[in-house]
Order: sequence, then structure tokens, then C-alpha cells
Amino acid sequence: MQTENQTSPALRSCKNYVGGEFVDGGRPFEIRNPATGDVHAHAFEADADIVDAAVAAAANALKGDWGQMPLAKRRQMLNAIADGIEARFDDFVEAEIADTGKPYSLADHLDIPRGAANFRIFSDAVANLSTETFQQDTPDGGKALNYAVRKPLGVVGIISPWNLPLLLMTWKAAPAMACGNAVIVKPSEETPSSTTLLGEVMSSVGVPDGAFNVVHGFGPDSAGELLTKHPGVRAITFTGETRTGEAIMKAAAANVKALSFELGGKNAAIVFADADMDAAIAGLARAAFLNTGQVCLAPERIYVERSVFDTFVAGLKGKAEALKPGLPHADGVDFGPLISEEHREKVLGYYQLAVDEGATVVTGGGALDLDDAAARGYFVEPTVWTGLSHDARVCREEIFGPACAVIPFDTEEEAIRLANDSEYGLASSIWTTDMSRAHRVGEAMEVGISWVNCWFLRDLRTPFGGVKMSGIGREGGVHSINFYSEPSNICIKL
Ligand code: NAD
Repeated sequence: MQTENQTSPALRSCKNYVGGEFVDGGRPFEIRNPATGDVHAHAFEADADIVDAAVAAAANALKGDWGQMPLAKRRQMLNAIADGIEARFDDFVEAEIADTGKPYSLADHLDIPRGAANFRIFSDAVANLSTETFQQDTPDGGKALNYAVRKPLGVVGIISPWNLPLLLMTWKAAPAMACGNAVIVKPSEETPSSTTLLGEVMSSVGVPDGAFNVVHGFGPDSAGELLTKHPGVRAITFTGETRTGEAIMKAAAANVKALSFELGGKNAAIVFADADMDAAIAGLARAAFLNTGQVCLAPERIYVERSVFDTFVAGLKGKAEALKPGLPHADGVDFGPLISEEHREKVLGYYQLAVDEGATVVTGGGALDLDDAAARGYFVEPTVWTGLSHDARVCREEIFGPACAVIPFDTEEEAIRLANDSEYGLASSIWTTDMSRAHRVGEAMEVGISWVNCWFLRDLRTPFGGVKMSGIGREGGVHSINFYSEPSNICIKL
């Protein structure tokens, strides 16, 4: 069995991982490091034969060792996967950095630790599951016992984005596997490396062949669409753009696949005059610019009570200008590039549109010119606007870059109305020292999660997901278990 994926010392090679082996075949495509623009890897686009083979391998795993594995052993296996990620921690960090260009400190503190933690968390989550039991009086005067058994869905397709590649993919692969499903992952075409590495870990820790498979490629007319249309796949769990979710929903209709969608956002933050202003400025600067704004939960609209508006804007400007852009390993760098040239063009298009729509550019607003290798990277300036109408396109459309509009408000009711006036509904962040108000406003928000005096903080057992066009369903803790397994009722006439 071929468990090593590397074929060239110079360039990483991301092969498809099917039935416990890295298989040859598929059209090669280039993977660039966004911090330098250099090609650092090749991935191989899975064609219909490779996707078919992955589905067959997953189905066989369900009939074989993986499907027969007792829960206790499966839980041990998940912990072994987490150990395996940690044992190759540096390799994962380097893979993630090479694909995304993100600062070393971010991959080291967030992406890879959470990638490992997801397996431990869902190993725990399936430890003590119960199901419903009802004893029923029957029409003939007897009794019947009804109880549910929980079963895996079968073959689950996982389609993931590029912004937090390992973290978001394992957020779905771990609970799906914990519930006994066999998975086929289609990572983003921009970031195939850490998922490929996870294939190596799966083989090295002895996960049964076919329980975890990886197919590389693009969305439409490629591996993504092949997976969503495949009759052997029972469910698709997807994180990505809302319009991609719409396309997947149509494709998945053919055999009525179960769907879980974590989609785009246009998140609002609300800063009241009574907030701890230093904390609000620091917290929202982090929220707006972490991972170069490429976080679905990032606030791109910040509503600030008029009496503290100027103080807040000055503080946010200072934080944005203090960020240090550069290559991932350079000293003190905390601000990386955007994922691709194409995405940079999109974000710069919004920078121009903001000006056209009447913005005052408080800071940033353009591309970043850096020295050395980073000069070829896809860097843009962290950007803050004021003077925009709440109805401006840049205040309604998801930019997915390091930019936010700061808009004043006068009353709590106005802040709630403006924050909720969006077709999206993923997250909000409320800053106030009045806890009655915090609860009142938090409850009024049309979102899946409202943070108070914080952002990105979350017990992973809580429900996570979006409302409106930000998603379908909830994942996290038992909510993930409820999606990745289904109860089957047994009724015994006593
Ligand atoms: P994307 O939708 O362009 O791509 C995501 C994945 O879908 C990729 O693997 C891609 O190849 C695949 N894909 C694209 N078209 C497809 C099709 N027709 N059929 C099957 N697969 C297809 O998203 P992205 O640009 O990689 O990620 C950024 C987006 O993800 C943003 O909108 C962001 O808000 C969202 N996001 C949401 C969450 C959340 O938890 N709600 C988390 C992270 C990112």
C-alpha cells in the first residue's frame, strides 16, 4: 500500500486518497502560495472514475471493518487521528501556510490545534448518546415497546472552503466519522495540502481503508459537482459561498441527499456608548482583520452609537495601521495575503466601489506594496470606511476581505433594525456593559450566534450555523450528531 503521498522533494504533490491509498491519475493543477505567488504544489483533479472509486471504497468500508467497528474502538481511532495530527504538527502548519499564506502564528495557534481538537471533541460527543424509548398501550389491550437506534447516514460528501482549511474540514469529517459514516472530502482547489496530509495520518494510525477518502478538484463540472450528484452519496455537508450552496442544493435534489450548509455572511457588530471602548476597539479590530478578513464570522458592518463614533473610528484606524503584513514566517507578522489574485481583484473592486458609493476612506483602501518575495503576494491594505449609507452595496454584499464600514446610530431600536436588515444571518457581536440590553439585543438579532463583548469565542458543544441565506441546519456537539446519524425506530409488540 502506498501511504506516502510525496513524489517530489521540491513541490508537494496532492494525490487523491481512495480506499486507504494515494492513487495515480487525474489532471494535475497548480497550487500557489498566496504570500509569494509561487507554485508550491500540484494537486490532481479527480475525474468521474476516481470519484466513483472513492464512493465504492467508502461503501465497502461501511460493509467492512469500519462499519463493524465497536463504538469504543471508533472513539479510540478518533483520538489516534488527533494524536497523529499533533505528531506531525509542524508538517500541518507548513502545509496550511504554504496554501494560504497566513501568518505562522495563526496556523500554529488556531488552524492546526483546532483540526486535532475536532476529533477529540466528537470522540467525546458520541460517548454517552441516548435515544428515545416509549412504552405504548396497544388497541388489543397489550403493550408495545418503541425505541430508537441511531445509525450512520452512509457515505457523506464533505465540501470545504479555503479560509480555514483543516479546521473547517475536520469540523465535519470528525463528527461524520464519529457517527460511523464513511466520508469523501473535496477540499478547496486552493488549499488541498492539509487534507492530503490528513490522508497520510489516517493510513498511519490504521483507520480502515475507505473510511476517509479525498478527491481533489474544482466545483462545477469537476469533483465537487460529481460528488454532489453521485447516487451513492447520502449526504452533503458544505461550507462555502451562498451561491455555491444554491448550486449544490439543486444537484443534490436528484436522490434527496441530506444537506448541512454553513454559508456566507454580512455580519454586523453594534457598539453602544456604555461599552468598554478599549475592549470594543481591540475586539472588533481582531474580528475584522483576523485571517485578512477571510472569516465567515467577520463583521463587515460596525454600527456605533453616535456619541462614541469618532473615538471608535480613531481607535480602529490605529489598530488597522499597527498590523504587520508580510511573509508567514517573518518576525511579528500578523497580517497575511488574500487567497488568490482573483480574490484580490474582487476585494480591490469593492475598495473602488466603496469610494464610488461615497465612502470616506479612514485607512487603507488599496493594494499593499511589500518588498522581496511578498511583493508578488496578494496583499491588500486593512481598510476602514465611514460615510457610507447602510444601503450601499459594500454594506450589503459579502466582501470576505479586511474591510469594514463604520456607521453611526442613535437608538437601540435603530441599531437592531440596521443590523437585521440583511439577507444574511450568520453572526453578530454586541458591545455594552448593560447586560439587560445585551440579552435584549442578542435575542433580537436574526443570526445563528450573537457574541457579547467578545467574538469567535464558542464552546464547541453549542449549536453553530446561520439563518436566512447564511445556512441550513446546526452543527456542534449533539447538533452535529443529529445531522450525521439518524434514528431508526424499533417497535416490539410485547
Ligand atoms: P466556495 O463556495 O467558492 O467554495 C467552497 C467549496 O465548494 C470549494 O471546495 C469549491 O471547489 C466547492 N464548489 C464550488 N462550486 C461547487 C459546485 N457547483 N458543486 C460542488 N462544489 C462546489 O467558497 P470559498 O470561496 O472556498 O469560501 C469562502 C466562502 O465560504 C465565503 O462565502 C464564506 O463566508 C464562506 N464560509 C462560511 C463559513 C460558515 O461557517 N458559515 C465558514 C467559512 C467560510
